[in-house]
Amino acid sequence: MKGQFPIEKFGALQTPFYYYDTQLLRQTLSIIRAEIGKIDNAVEHYAVKANANQQVLRIIREYGLGADCVSGGEIKAALQAGFSPDKIVFAGVGKADWEINLGLEHDIFCFNVESIPELEIINELAAAKGVVAKVEFRVNPDVKAHTHTNITTGLAENKFGISLNDVERVIAMAQQMQHVKFIGLHFHIGSQILDMGDFAALCNRVNELLTQFEKHHIQVENINVGGGLGIDYQHPNRQSIPDFCEYFKTFNSLIKRRDGQMLHFELGRAVVAQCGTLISKVLYVKQGTNKQFAILDAGMTDLIRPALYQAYHKIENISSELPVETYDVVGPICESSDVFGKAVDLNKVQRGDLLAIRSAGAYGEIMASQYNCRELPRSYTTEDLL
Ligand SMILES: *Cc1c(COP(=O)(O)O)cnc(C)c1O
Repeated sequence: MKGQFPIEKFGALQTPFYYYDTQLLRQTLSIIRAEIGKIDNAVEHYAVKANANQQVLRIIREYGLGADCVSGGEIKAALQAGFSPDKIVFAGVGKADWEINLGLEHDIFCFNVESIPELEIINELAAAKGVVAKVEFRVNPDVKAHTHTNITTGLAENKFGISLNDVERVIAMAQQMQHVKFIGLHFHIGSQILDMGDFAALCNRVNELLTQFEKHHIQVENINVGGGLGIDYQHPNRQSIPDFCEYFKTFNSLIKRRDGQMLHFELGRAVVAQCGTLISKVLYVKQGTNKQFAILDAGMTDLIRPALYQAYHKIENISSELPVETYDVVGPICESSDVFGKAVDLNKVQRGDLLAIRSAGAYGEIMASQYNCRELPRSYTTEDLL
């Protein structure tokens, strides 16, 4: 073991691969279950898009969470992992007919609808099957989250959701339709949010809407506040489990729920990010003029976040105890953005060393591609390596 990694087991495995610390995942899930259990009428639907690895999904399902899916493929992955259809919600701006039909055939908990044309198609497809689809409307709350611009979703002019001014009209339309049933409101303001003030702003918006709807006698059974809780990428060991207590408490204390209203959460990253690590082997150490490069066998095809969002991941040399030197850590892909970190301090690196790229459990493996005709990364859990 070096730190939390069974590195004597790693030696035999072909790199690069994802390693999932399932002990940490289980601890995280226990805390989520305990914290959400303190709130009446609240459920967490894990956002499958963060990580759809079957072993990971099965563990999440064991702890009683539902699944938030954004495609037919994710619905299939959730069903395969044993999630009950009545705990599956289906969101996304562009649901294809086959995906809607799949949801209808399995009688999933609800469709989170993002536009009027989508509502009309769901009504039509449900009519063809002689069923009624439960729908929540995704409202664009026009709340600015203090996070990366590529991952804010809650501003007024945005492809996601229905604008505040239109919601009531859309609900009225749904109430005229025979094959959809309006059951609630859905929100999601962005990702990697660490400032509880952003969530508080969302809560205020929700309260305004609830007051407005009450005046007009519109019943809202479910309030789904989406996901977005961030994690500590800088210090994966210091805060390996996000502050779920604070997060759930913020919503529970600020949203003025009416009798019987259910509160739904859709956390993705916060559930799985810290349990995953990308393990990669150093192929070469190249001396440049002013710096040195550690060239890895993992690249942006295995973990795209640094290239896509300039995201920071902590990197450690888990094979070396030698004095620290500074490296640019890069992958083998033919793109200059294929860089995991610049000026990274690592214990002196030699060919063959294993580097751990931390906090990679969310939006890591699932975003892998085969660019450059590469194989997809493999994955192992703590249990696989016992
Ligand atoms: C991506 C997404 C989530 C999960 O976001 P995280 O930041 O991973 O918690 C939840 N709900 C919706 C609608 C999403 O698109």
